[in-house]
This record gives sequence, structure tokens and C-alpha cells, in this order.
Amino acid sequence: MLREVNRRYFLKAVQGAKIKKDTPYEIQCNCPLCGDKKYRLHLYHNKQKNIDLVHCFNAGCVLDSPMTFKRALPYLNPSLEEAYKKETLMEIISNSYIKEDNPLKSLLQKKKSAVADTGIDFLHFFRDCKKSKRCLEYLKKRLKWQSKDDFSRDFQILGNVYYNGKKEETRFFEHSSEKDKKHYVKDSIIIPIRDKGREVGFYSRALEDRRFSTFLLPDIPKFWKNCPVSEMQIVTESIFDSVSTGFENIGAMLSADTPPEISPPENCIVAFDNDKTGFEKLYKEIENTISGKGKYKRFFIWPYSFRGVVIEEKDFNELLQRLVEIEKMPRKEVLRFIKEMIEYNTEENAIKAFLKLKEKGVKI
Ligand SMILES: [Zn+2]
Repeated sequence: MLREVNRRYFLKAVQGAKIKKDTPYEIQCNCPLCGDKKYRLHLYHNKQKNIDLVHCFNAGCVLDSPMTFKRALPYLNPSLEEAYKKETLMEIISNSYIKEDNPLKSLLQKKKSAVADTGIDFLHFFRDCKKSKRCLEYLKKRLKWQSKDDFSRDFQILGNVYYNGKKEETRFFEHSSEKDKKHYVKDSIIIPIRDKGREVGFYSRALEDRRFSTFLLPDIPKFWKNCPVSEMQIVTESIFDSVSTGFENIGAMLSADTPPEISPPENCIVAFDNDKTGFEKLYKEIENTISGKGKYKRFFIWPYSFRGVVIEEKDFNELLQRLVEIEKMPRKEVLRFIKEMIEYNTEENAIKAFLKLKEKGVKI
């Protein structure tokens, strides 16, 4: 049988053309492309391949060899293409966005139709990370937990965190208009991305190598936050960095910049990494702000040192690790130290600092 969405868009695309036949398996009409008047354009279902094909039997027509409806649509009516993609995307995602060979597949199938509306039901795919010793060990090491308070504070910020084990590989397929992305999640920690109370994606990070990936349902901006955007105090590049800043209301870009849908409040600080790419992004962002296009007003610029501590690390999480591990500072104090460093620095008005640098002819 023809797919409902294909039938609907085909009829839209040939609107005005005379139709001779319209059955659940085939539509036959005049071809608006080659001016055919003998009903030689067909949309039909190929049962063997389970696809819907378009074919105009008028030699010389652009559609004179069979092609999938998806490929034929831009010829028939390019203005419908985007709406069609969006509709089929949602259909594909809610039907197949997860895994072929997961032992939980039967469970997933029951749940799949609800996915697009309600978000991802993580416990169907993963385990609560608090039940995994290895996972807790990883977080403890990474975030330098020293007490139960540290543990509680970080989980309050991160929310539910999940885990999938060494033997379980879960594949997520993300379909987008440009490219289908595959995500293989194995032996990883999974931090959900929320939007309007729903869990709509996740950031995954492997425990033993540096593999990571970000999976999102369609139309969800690539951004992690633990609070409403209007309450965000700081935005960093990665989630673990924002947890290491000492701020409670945090966001993480998970990529090169903040998506257009996210508008941080005026007092929100943006802090890029302390490395070459981080500086480049920082200066670009400051330039944007100066020219009125930028979305941030407060910037963090890494100092060479703060309160006698030389800062060489490339991000806040590395700094937290060094100060706790090597300098033997209590974690609570380190978080206060980092927070003060960030606030002190931005009060100096980063834009002025930047302009001064430019005046001096410093190349950026
Ligand atoms: Zn034709």
C-alpha cells in the first residue's frame, strides 16, 4: 500500500492535473512536468522493495525512469520538500530512532509512538547510574567528590544520570535533513537534555576512552541546561566544566556556540575553554557583541593567575581536579575559588579589555 504521507504529498504536488486512477496502491494522472495528456504519470507501491515509486511513461520527461517519491518530489513541486521532510522525519524518528538489536526492542516498540510527544523514556534504554559502581567511580574521579555533600550537589545539578554497560551497545539513529547520524552508546555515562520538562536528547560520554556524542530528537536545540534559560548564570563549553564552576544555574553549549533558540539573560557569563579554539571563539563572540549581533554581555577571560594560583589548565574541570588532587584544597573551597575568579574577571569589563588589545594591535 502507498504510504499515507506520500499519497497526500503526491496529490498536493500534481494539484490541477487530471487524475485517472486513485487506488490504495497506485495513482495515475497527467504529468504536469512534460505536458503529457495521456495519464502517463504514476505513483505506485513496489511491494518487493517496500517503497513508493514515481514514474512518467512519457519518454524524455525528467521522471521517465522510476525514482522514489522522496527523490521525485523536488521535480514535481520543490516548495513542498521541506514540509514533507519534516513530516517524514517525525515518522521515522518515532518509529525507528533506536536500535535494531537491543534486547529491549519489544519494550521499545510498545513505547515508540509516544516518544515524539513525551520525550525519551531513559530507563527503557539505560540504567540509573547510581546503581553502577564504575559509573560513580568515574564521576567521583572527574568531579573530585570528597563527601556525600559533593555527590548530592552534583546530582542536584545534573538531574537523572544514566549508564549503559560494557556489554550493552545501544544505537541511536538521528535523522536530519542533511545527514543521518548514527550514535553508538556503549560503556558510557548518559546525561539527559531536557526541554519543557521532557527529556528530549542526551549527551553521552564513554568511561574509558574519549568518545562522546549528543543525540537529539528533531527540532531540539543543541544545548544543555539545568534551569530555565532566564535563570542561567554561566554557560561553558561542556557540562562537566559548568558543574565545576561553583555556579548552581548552569548551561553548556555542547558545540561551538549557543543555538539561536537560546537567549541567555544579560548577566549570564559565557566562558570558553582556556585554549586556542576557546580564545578564538571568545573574541568572535565579543566582536559580535560589539557590533550588536552577539547574545552575551559578560565574558570570562582566563587570567594568568588568580590569588597566587597560576592557571594553566584548559578548562574548569581540569582546574578543579588539580586544585583538589595536587594542591590538596577542599573541593568546596575550590568551587568558591573558581566562582570568584570568574566573577572578579568579568567585572573588569571584558569588552574594554578586548578593545584595548585591539588598539595595541594584538592579532586575534
Ligand atoms: Zn512526465
